[in-house]
This record gives sequence, structure tokens and C-alpha cells, in this order.
Amino acid sequence: MSCSSQKINRRIDTINPCVYCRARRSVKEYPTYSIGHDHFSINRCLVCRTVFLTPSPTPEQLKQAYDDSYYGRGQAKFIGFIERVLDYFRSARARKVSKYISPPAKILDIGCGNGNFLGNLIDKGYEACGIELPGKAAQRARKIPRLHLKIGRLSANGFPDKYFDAITMWHVFEHLSEPKNTLEIIQKIIKPGGYLIISMPNIESFQSRLFRGKWLALDPPKHLFFMGASDLASNMKKFDFDLIKLNYFSLEQNPFCIQQSILNCFLDDREVLFEALKGNNTYTKHYPPCSLILQKIFYIGSFPLFAFLATVESALGKGGTMELIFRKT
Ligand SMILES: [Zn+2]
Repeated sequence: MSCSSQKINRRIDTINPCVYCRARRSVKEYPTYSIGHDHFSINRCLVCRTVFLTPSPTPEQLKQAYDDSYYGRGQAKFIGFIERVLDYFRSARARKVSKYISPPAKILDIGCGNGNFLGNLIDKGYEACGIELPGKAAQRARKIPRLHLKIGRLSANGFPDKYFDAITMWHVFEHLSEPKNTLEIIQKIIKPGGYLIISMPNIESFQSRLFRGKWLALDPPKHLFFMGASDLASNMKKFDFDLIKLNYFSLEQNPFCIQQSILNCFLDDREVLFEALKGNNTYTKHYPPCSLILQKIFYIGSFPLFAFLATVESALGKGGTMELIFRKT
């Protein structure tokens, strides 16, 4: 056996199943690590091309990753003005939905977080349902008037068939350990002609390819899998969904994702600035205040530059996030 074929064989993984199709035949692409310094590998399935995290995170790793620091400790996930900026983006999402479908349509948001996106839709006259895991975010969502909140996971018998006019998953799909099962349920509970919006990190973006294991949006161990837009669109075809719109630009996500990934290349820990902005003092306590201030100055001072670069990246179809709007046939 030649040296090069031995090298290729070491990269073949026949143990860890693909998160999407469950095939045990993937290729190891590059290593990565979590904020808790647990080591993982990013693999690409040789059957369905899904990119996924291996090995599967343990229940302890997931419990730690989704502790209260993930949702923020106070009334909001992020500190002051950032939470207000995020609220603006949540209302922009509500406006986007209202372009496609008029009130009083029924909307389901899977992984609804603090529920502010749905709160905006309720104000416009929609009937809104949200699903969120137990925790701080669900406690915040519970306070929104007229929001039908289910705490837990989407289940097969949770809603009647052909019930919703639109279903949204804003940066939630990649967190699911059984994505195919979720799509089967969505296929059942959405009306014919209904809309499904999925936003998720773009594993085929320039920033993903540049930063590899240090890319912020890999977010191990919370993000379990990724798909390129064309792979996702062809998978969705099998669930009777046609892709009607694809957008790669997000001012909310893309510039910051590049900025934090650059910092990850220089620091021992990943996502230090991101955690500092969430007020996660336990995580950032090893960093002197001047280091955190310098990171914040870098964030604000270089934001226009990275917003420009993110715009270029997106215009070339290689933006850091993707938002896909599907319509059920
Ligand atoms: Zn697969």
C-alpha cells in the first residue's frame, strides 16, 4: 500500500454514524474543540455529504454547554445594547415572515428562545406557537401574552396534521440530534403551500474554510451537523419542500463570526469575546480586564471593515450564514 493511500485511510471513519443519514462511512476533515477544551473532529459523510461533529457529545458535555451561561444569567441573554440590537433583528425576522403570509396565519417557531420574534408576530395579529427547551429562555418566553409555548422538544403527536401556515427554525436546525425525524414531523404538521424558513451556518462559506476548527459557528458541542445549501435543498425535496429563496447575508451573524474567529486564532480559549458580551464572567475570569476591553475595541472599531468583507463574501454566494425559505408542495 502506498504512503498516500495509508494517509487517506487514516482519515476514513467507519465508527461514528452521520447525524443525518446514520451511515458509518465518513472522512475526517479537521479537528476542533469546545469552550470546555473537549476535542472533536469535523467529518464529512461519504454517503449524504453532511458535515458533522464526532464523536457525538456526551450528555454531560451537552448539559454543560446548555447551562444557564448559554442563555445569559439575567433577564436577557446578552448585555444591554447588544440585546436591543438583537431585538431589532428579531423584529426584522417577523417583518420577513409577514411578507410571505398574512395574519391570522398560524406560525410555529422551533427553538423560540425568549419568544420576542413570536411576540412581534402576535402584535401583528398572527397566532404563534413556540417550542423551547427548559431553562432561562423558556422562562422569558412564558411572559409573552398570547404565546402558545411548549417546553421540550417537537414530538410526533404534538400538533394536528396540516396545522401550521409557516414554521421557522432560526439557527436551531444544526442543534438537532435527529434532524431527519424533525423534518418528518414538520412535513406532517405544515399545510400544503406552507412556508418553512431555516437559517444555519454555511459550512461552505469562505470564513468556514479559512478558520476551520476555530470558526465560531462550529460552536462545538452544540452544533451537531452542517449542510451546504444545495445539499439541504435536495434533502428537503424528499420532504416535498421547494426552495424558493436563498440568502447568505446576515449583518447580525456574519461580521462578528469573522471577528471572533480571528480572536480564536490568537487566544488559548475560544469565544472569549462572545462569552464576555453575554456577561459570562466565570468563563472570562482568566483574562485581565484590559484584554477584554481591547477585544471589545477590536470588535467595535473593525466592525465596518468586516461588515464590508461579509457583504462581499455573501455576494459571491459564500457568506457565513444561509437563510433558506422553502414552500411545501
Ligand atoms: Zn450522511
